[in-house]
Amino acid sequence: MENNDRPLEQPIGAREDLPSFSITKETPIGHVLRLGKECEKCGHCCSYGSCYFLSEDIDRISSRLGIPKEEFIKEHLDENIAFNTKVHKAKTNKKPGMPYGECVFFDKDEGCTIHDIKPLHGRVGKGCGEHGQELSIWFMLNYLVNPADPESIRQWAVYLKTHPTIPGGELEQLVKDKELLRKIISYEKLR
Ligand code: SF4
Ligand code: SF4
Repeated sequence: MENNDRPLEQPIGAREDLPSFSITKETPIGHVLRLGKECEKCGHCCSYGSCYFLSEDIDRISSRLGIPKEEFIKEHLDENIAFNTKVHKAKTNKKPGMPYGECVFFDKDEGCTIHDIKPLHGRVGKGCGEHGQELSIWFMLNYLVNPADPESIRQWAVYLKTHPTIPGGELEQLVKDKELLRKIISYEKLR
């Protein structure tokens, strides 16, 4: 199930009146980008994994690089599934025997070679900075976790057993119908 075709400038249900220090699922993308730590191109996150590329990111970045979209996808991205949502991710150069590797857009001297046009996931930050963890959760909730997909909700429920969330990311907030949520979690409602 695709869940990443939302307009990037205004997440669904976004409110403009939130104080800048409060990050919730509904925090508008403009606030989120301002709260994100300015990337210092230290390369840490890029050495152990890569960014998700949403549909809009792919259109924008392939166009800016002057590479046909399909060619860009084939050369630089892998298909990925996160919380049962199909989403692309930059390929990585995995080291032998290791489950992780450097992002293909990472250069040891230059850092991110697409820094000025990098995908939203990279602009939001991938966990670093004062609000890194909350912003990372914000990204997952708005682009990967799909409340309309029971399997996505079940996988998020498993994630929540060992991870925190931000306001709006609680299961009861994502699926407000308590009986429906019970059926989803108990596998009575499969899809
Ligand atoms: S997002 Fe953070 S960890 Fe990743 S390269 Fe930038 S400063 Fe380093
Ligand atoms: S796209 Fe850029 S910021 Fe994202 S992981 Fe790759 S090198 Fe790092």
